[in-house]
Amino acid sequence: MDSLSDTDRAYVLQHATKQFWKHIVPIVVMAFIIHVLLLVAFAALGVVPLLVGNSFSVLAYLFCLKAIRQGSFEMAGLVMSVEIILHAILATWVLGWASNFYFYLFCVVPIIAFSFQAAPVKRGLLSSSIVLVALVGFAWRDSWGQGAAALSSVSLEAFGMVNVVIAIGLLLQATTLSERYALAMQLHLFHSANRDSLTNLYTRRRVTQAARHLPSQGAVSLLLLDIDHFKQINDRHGHEIGDRVLQQVAKVLEETIGERGMAARWGGEEFVLLMFDTPLAQAKEAAEHIRKHLRRISAELDFSVTATFAVAEFGDREALARVLQRVDQALYQGKLQGRDRVMLAR
Ligand code: GH3
Ligand code: MG
Ligand code: MG
Repeated sequence: MDSLSDTDRAYVLQHATKQFWKHIVPIVVMAFIIHVLLLVAFAALGVVPLLVGNSFSVLAYLFCLKAIRQGSFEMAGLVMSVEIILHAILATWVLGWASNFYFYLFCVVPIIAFSFQAAPVKRGLLSSSIVLVALVGFAWRDSWGQGAAALSSVSLEAFGMVNVVIAIGLLLQATTLSERYALAMQLHLFHSANRDSLTNLYTRRRVTQAARHLPSQGAVSLLLLDIDHFKQINDRHGHEIGDRVLQQVAKVLEETIGERGMAARWGGEEFVLLMFDTPLAQAKEAAEHIRKHLRRISAELDFSVTATFAVAEFGDREALARVLQRVDQALYQGKLQGRDRVMLAR
């Protein structure tokens, strides 16, 4: 984590912010709809200051949705936060503390948390604003609400209740979406760390981890495969065709291993199969099976793709590094002996 450069950090933050807003868009749409409904309600009730204020709110949410689509997330976050705070102040001033418009202040919290991670000043200002507005509003709660006289007590009661329900509902929904966002980011992270981007096979890292907790029951074998003269394939047919060969080999490996173990791209044109419940003889059979499949690939491609294989069975408590050493040596011998063969590692 500490080895990340500033550019990497900025990229991660940018990606995380984008993903957050992607997840949170439904909330912005909901907020827009709520403000349109409020606009209708204030027009019907004839509360002019809130009718005017709410018109600006509707415009603000339209602007936010556009800003999100254009990727101006900080701007969207700022406009939304300021709108919520000003709206809470205006509505409380006009309809009084009991109208519960200050509940919407809590909805600013997730926006501040996710949108201003790299902007401590804005973060600080917005955070202190919501605390200040809530505090001042509460302290002078009896002085607000001069405009409430225009409304019946039933309408005021209804505003108080509806606002509590909507504000808490929005916050709960935003929290659920944030959690979904966090899980999506974790899954994405897991996938990039553990799957090779070209072949979608597991990475070396994932197999190394898995090898630390091998099942205690049943034999475990390891197969190492290195494509023969792969550099020539690249040189003669181009890097793109080379990539396609790697993908086709990966597919064969995945089909061969199924649920019995893990197929990984070890690096370059080298692959590893970690095979559970598979003694050495069976691992050798699997290698021969893959070797035959490579013939089929060769026929389809019109040039020869072969590989050299080495298989070994894990000894009792034998470490992965030691098994790798054995298969590496066996593979090297296989190359010396003419390639396109399966070697047993001792
Ligand atoms: P040998 O039979 O002895 O294994 O010979 P080789 O040519 O397969 O081995 P060498 O190590 O000389 O070359 C491996 C080549 O694999 C060189 C490198 O450019 C190529 N390679 C590594 N990763 C990729 C990749 O992701 N895509 C493509 N197209 N080529 C790759
Ligand atoms: Mg190699
Ligand atoms: Mg090779």
